Amino acid sequence: MRFSRYFMPVLRDVPKEAEIVSHRLMLRAGMIRQQASGLYSWLPMGYKVLMKVQKIIEEEQNRSGAVELLMPTIQSADLWRESGRYEAYGKEMLRIEDRHEREFLYGPTNEEMITDIFRSYVKSYKDLPLNLYHIQWKFRDEVRPRFGTMRSREFLMKDAYSFDLTKEDAVKAYERMFVAYLRTYARMGLTAIPMRADTGPIGGDLSHEWIILAETGESQVFCHRDLLDKPIPGKDTDFMGDLTPIFNDWTSLYAATEEMVDEAEYEAAVPEDKRVSARGIEVGHIFYFGTKYSEPMKASVTGQDGKETVVHMGSYGIGLTRVVPAIIEASHDENGIVWPVSVAPFEAVLINLKAGDTDTDAACDKLYAELTAAGIDMLYDDRDQPAGSKFATADLVGIPYQLILGPRGLKSGEVEIKHRKTGERESLPLTEAVARLKGLIEPQRMTDI
Ligand code: ATP
Ligand code: MG
Repeated sequence: MRFSRYFMPVLRDVPKEAEIVSHRLMLRAGMIRQQASGLYSWLPMGYKVLMKVQKIIEEEQNRSGAVELLMPTIQSADLWRESGRYEAYGKEMLRIEDRHEREFLYGPTNEEMITDIFRSYVKSYKDLPLNLYHIQWKFRDEVRPRFGTMRSREFLMKDAYSFDLTKEDAVKAYERMFVAYLRTYARMGLTAIPMRADTGPIGGDLSHEWIILAETGESQVFCHRDLLDKPIPGKDTDFMGDLTPIFNDWTSLYAATEEMVDEAEYEAAVPEDKRVSARGIEVGHIFYFGTKYSEPMKASVTGQDGKETVVHMGSYGIGLTRVVPAIIEASHDENGIVWPVSVAPFEAVLINLKAGDTDTDAACDKLYAELTAAGIDMLYDDRDQPAGSKFATADLVGIPYQLILGPRGLKSGEVEIKHRKTGERESLPLTEAVARLKGLIEPQRMTDI
C-alpha cells in the first residue's frame, strides 16, 4: 500500500476524551472514529487489524470443529419471549419497531436465534455434536460506554454455540473451545488466562472468563503465576480426541475473577511467591448452560433409544473489537503501538527518505515491488514529508519493521532495518533486504504454532 494513496488520518495531539492508552493510540493512529457515544467507525488501518484478528479466530474455531454461519443483527421480540429473556434483559437491549408495528431488537447475543435454527433442522442424536458460530455486530446499550472500543455499545463478537446429547458430551465440547481459545489468543500475541467465572444472567454451572492482565482492566483477578508462561497446545492437537488432560492441566492452577475468588482457597492453593493479584480485561467468556434455552424453546433430538431428549448447550464469546485495544494495552511504549506481527496492520513499512528524487524513488519502487511479491504485507511511505515525521508516524502506528532507504544508502548499496519492538537497527546490502525481512517476519506470523 502506498501511503500517498492510503487513508490514515494520524492525529498530532493527544485526544482529551481518551482516558486509557489504547484509546489514545487508536485515535492518534487513525484507526477508529467515534460517531456517537459507544459507536465507532473502523478506519482502514484499524479495520485491517480487526480483520486479521477475525481470520485467526476463524482458523482456530474451524480447526476445533466449529462451523461458521451468519445470523442477522435484528431479531424478533417473539423469539426472545420464548426464552423469557425479552423482559428480563432490561434497558441494555435496543428495542425496535418496524412499519407494521412489529417488535424487533438489535441482538445483544444469539442464543435464542441459534436454538431456533437448531430445532428447525436437527432431529437426531446422529447429527450431534454440533457447534455453530458467527462473527456479527452486537448492540448493548451500556450504561457507561467508555475506553473507546473496549466498552462500546455496538461491538463485533464471535459467538459459538454447542449442542450435545448429554452433559458429558457438552463438557467435551466446552473443552474443545477451551483449547481453541488458548491457541487463538496466543496467535494474536496475547497471554489470556482462563479464570473461573460467574455465569451471570446467562446461567449454568461451568464458565471461564479469558483475561488479559493490564492496569487499565475493569476487574480484579487472582491467579497462579505459572499460568502466565504455560506452553500452548500445538496445532497438531487432536480435537477429535480426549482434551480432558489439557483442560485439567490448565484448570488445576488457581485463577478466578473477583466475583468468584475465595480468599482462603486462593491462599491455600497458591504459594505466596506465585500469587498474582492484578487488574484484568475480559476478552472472552465461555459457558456451559445445559438446557436453559433448549428446554423452553423445545430443542430436542431423538436419542439412540428413540426417546426425545432436550439438548445440552454452551456458548462461547470473543469480543473482537475489544481484543484490538487489549493487544495495544499489552503492547505499546512511549512512542506508540508495538504490534505483534500476526495482527499488525502492515508487517513492514518502507520509508523513502527523499521522495521526489528520481534515483531514490526508482530504488524504493523496485524494493517495494520485490517485498510485496515476496508476500510481505507492506506499507510504502512514498510521501514528500520530512524524515523525522515519517519515523514518528511509523513508530506511532506500530509497524513491526521499518526499512529505511535514502540517497546515502543507495550510494553504498545499503538499507537500514529498524526493529520497532527493540529499537535495534541493522544495516545490510540492499540485495539481502527481502530475504532478511522474510526471515524475521515469517516465524512471527504464528501460523505454524
Ligand atoms: P462485560 O462484563 O465486560 O460487560 P459481558 O460479560 O457482559 O462483558 P459477554 O456476554 O460475556 O460480555 O460477551 C462476550 C465477550 O464480548 C466479552 O468477553 C467481551 O470480550 C465482549 N464484550 C462484551 N460487552 C462488550 C462491549 N460493551 N464492548 C466491547 N466488547 C464487549
Ligand atoms: Mg462475560
